[in-house]
Amino acid sequence: MNGLKKKGRFDLNKEVVPACDIKHKDSIEGLACELIRMEATTSERINASIGYCAEWLRQRGLTITLLENQGLMSLVCIVNEEREGPTIILNGHVDVVSAASEDFSPRIEERKLFGRGSYDMLGSVAAMMHAMVDLSKMDLLVKIMLCIVPDEERGGFDGTGFLVDQGYRGEIAICGEPTNYKIAVQAKGVLQLKMEVSGIAAHGSRPWLGENAILKAMKYCEAIEAIEQIQKTNLFFTRPSFNLSKIEAGKGINQVPDQCTFHLDIRYLPGEEVSEIIEQIQRAAPDANLEILAQGAPVLTDEGHPYVVQLKQVTEHFLNRKIEFFGQDGTADTRFYANYGIPAIEFGPVGAGHHGPEEYVEIESLYSFKEILKLFAINLVKMEE
Ligand SMILES: [Zn+2]
Repeated sequence: MNGLKKKGRFDLNKEVVPACDIKHKDSIEGLACELIRMEATTSERINASIGYCAEWLRQRGLTITLLENQGLMSLVCIVNEEREGPTIILNGHVDVVSAASEDFSPRIEERKLFGRGSYDMLGSVAAMMHAMVDLSKMDLLVKIMLCIVPDEERGGFDGTGFLVDQGYRGEIAICGEPTNYKIAVQAKGVLQLKMEVSGIAAHGSRPWLGENAILKAMKYCEAIEAIEQIQKTNLFFTRPSFNLSKIEAGKGINQVPDQCTFHLDIRYLPGEEVSEIIEQIQRAAPDANLEILAQGAPVLTDEGHPYVVQLKQVTEHFLNRKIEFFGQDGTADTRFYANYGIPAIEFGPVGAGHHGPEEYVEIESLYSFKEILKLFAINLVKMEE
């Protein structure tokens, strides 16, 4: 289908992959195996993983910049830096969510690579690194900037957020998140709140003398969920989301509670203003004390942007099938690029089970992903001509 090079890859028919040797490391899946084994769940291990990527790229003749921020390393590697053309950013995170120790022993079965982070997104990172090596040998008119970051799963502020603020920006950003080749052009915004509601304490046998803070909080929750901005839909999303995730209240069974604290995790659609949502929440819960625990802007990338269209066309041509645009319910590092008006998309290989025990990525899709990224870079030159 795609004329992928088989050379240098190890035998995929073997049930389980033995300990890595240099032959494995020279393949995308071998590099991904190494990254899975890094168990990048702590700052120390994440930095070791970034260091491993730096050394791997250096050994292949690429120039690396390592930046430290809040004790975490980020890696930037640019090919064709001297070119005038647009900059394509490839962004990947090496941090993974925690898992049982056996999930950090990668295995290959039926051309699938299993292990924590295989799909989210160490397979992508490995494919991007291989793409960079190939692109560095080509005479392109575009710059390619690979950013390998340490903290997407923890919010991305110290990695991608920091890099973007430092000026590591471009004309399009591709975050290699798990998408099965679909292209995420939108992502919901996040607003996480702590709400405190006061009532009046009374004896449990005479509740009419008090004001029950729990019941009041429940009413407020219903009123907040009903506000217009939390009911909207668009082409990519059938609903925003509203999750009452935590409640603390009540001291004894014979007391009317006079305090209730609850946490809300709201994911709103692109195009909505967070300040407006907060104002509406304050109107719905007028005497509640509101504290913003976390917020992240939505992503709203124009699916008609020429670079986005080009990526879709290249992918469709390579795979010989239609590729969909979609909206991501969760948040990703794309939002940091979007904050600077850079078209940012999530686009990655095929797999399943990310953040779960049976996480895997299809090995063939890692090779296709790499080829698509390369074709995209080559074709952007044509577009600029
Ligand atoms: Zn991810």
